[in-house]
Amino acid sequence: MTLDADLAVLGLGAAGSSALWRSATRGADVIGFEQHTPGHAHGSSHGHSRLFRTALVEGPQYVALARHAQRLWRELERADGTELLTLCGGLFLGPADGRILPPILETIAAHDLPHETLTTAQVRSAYPQHAIEEDTVGVLDPGTGVLRAEAGIRAAVRAAVGQGARVRTGEQVLAVTPGERGVEVRSTGPEGERTWRFGRVIMATGAWTAGLLPELTVPMRVRRTLLTWFRAPEPEQFGPERFGVFLHEADGYLAWGAPALEGHGVKVGLHDLPAPAVADPSHNPLEVDPAEWAEVARWVSRRLPGLDATDVRAEGCMYTHTPDEAFSIGTPRAYPGVVLAAACSGHGFKHATAVGDAAAALALDEEPAVDLTPFSPDRFG
Ligand SMILES: Cc1cc2nc3c(=O)[nH]c(=O)nc-3n(C[C@H](O)[C@H](O)[C@H](O)COP(=O)(O)OP(=O)(O)OC[C@H]3O[C@@H](n4cnc5c(N)ncnc54)[C@H](O)[C@@H]3O)c2cc1C
Repeated sequence: MTLDADLAVLGLGAAGSSALWRSATRGADVIGFEQHTPGHAHGSSHGHSRLFRTALVEGPQYVALARHAQRLWRELERADGTELLTLCGGLFLGPADGRILPPILETIAAHDLPHETLTTAQVRSAYPQHAIEEDTVGVLDPGTGVLRAEAGIRAAVRAAVGQGARVRTGEQVLAVTPGERGVEVRSTGPEGERTWRFGRVIMATGAWTAGLLPELTVPMRVRRTLLTWFRAPEPEQFGPERFGVFLHEADGYLAWGAPALEGHGVKVGLHDLPAPAVADPSHNPLEVDPAEWAEVARWVSRRLPGLDATDVRAEGCMYTHTPDEAFSIGTPRAYPGVVLAAACSGHGFKHATAVGDAAAALALDEEPAVDLTPFSPDRFG
């Protein structure tokens, strides 16, 4: 039985575009499949920007991945000739004994990361844009910044094609079936339905993964989330030089935000805003009912009073969660020949180049650059 290519990458979002690039860089004969076009707005990777953080609230186990990812983002910038990552610094705010500062300080201590701690008075004086409570203190992380999301995905696909990868856009994968000699992929696209055979397959289908691989033992829960931008009447107060990226634990929420950049307003989100489950990722509306962002606007009017909380632009998006919020990278027992690069639980964009690189290494029988033990797809079953 002849193969159509040694390797296929299914899904060219954040993880898949990187996996395609890292596979092509290794000289693999690889084809990428994407149901839309790379950089589209119907998955989990649209909305101009994503935060890049090194002093990670998610724990010290992600630092090696973030550092490797940063090296690769820089390599991709050189390959593409575009700026993708701007390290403008980040301010993490909350009670000293709250939900975010203790794990951030643990990550900083474990990896001896450069940082600065700020008292309540110092935060108020240096960052008056934030209205903080009396018990709120700050940690400054110079290793934090902003990634251009769609631009990064398109750059990775361009770099992959430049290294010989083939890409099929508008091609929807219908089924993935491991067999004796390789993996069978059924798809439908501009040329109709077709069955392909590959030596190995990297699955980077984000929120759609559980539907395509029903025997996975890692539970994946997809929920709706929002991207919301607020207008700054005094934009110079909220640019990357004066404002930076932030996380702020206040009023029962973990809020995150990015400065006004390249014509976009200040981006603010509430990570734990209750939101409905997404039954079918292909039908999660991009349009947002104002009732959905009302709570974000209330938070903004309390905590970022310099923004106009009535002037909002919003888009729908999706998080794919696992019970431990950790990624799933590796070959699940139920699907030999398939390497999973998935379930990035709302914090995966920054790591996407490293996740794609790890998946490419595994698919090509190389040793991944980082320890993937915490991300085993079989850790739940
Ligand atoms: C609102 C929001 C804010 C976030 N903020 C941050 C942040 O600040 N920092 C951070 O690091 N992370 C952040 N994240 C998380 C991060 O964006 C995601 O973890 C990451 O983008 C997921 O990438 P992915 O490749 O897994 O999924 P996607 O980028 O969605 O890619 C999956 C791709 O597979 C394609 N696909 C699916 N099924 C098929 C099929 N059957 N056939 C062909 N193609 C298919 C899809 O069309 C899509 O292009 C945020 C997420 C959201 C939603």
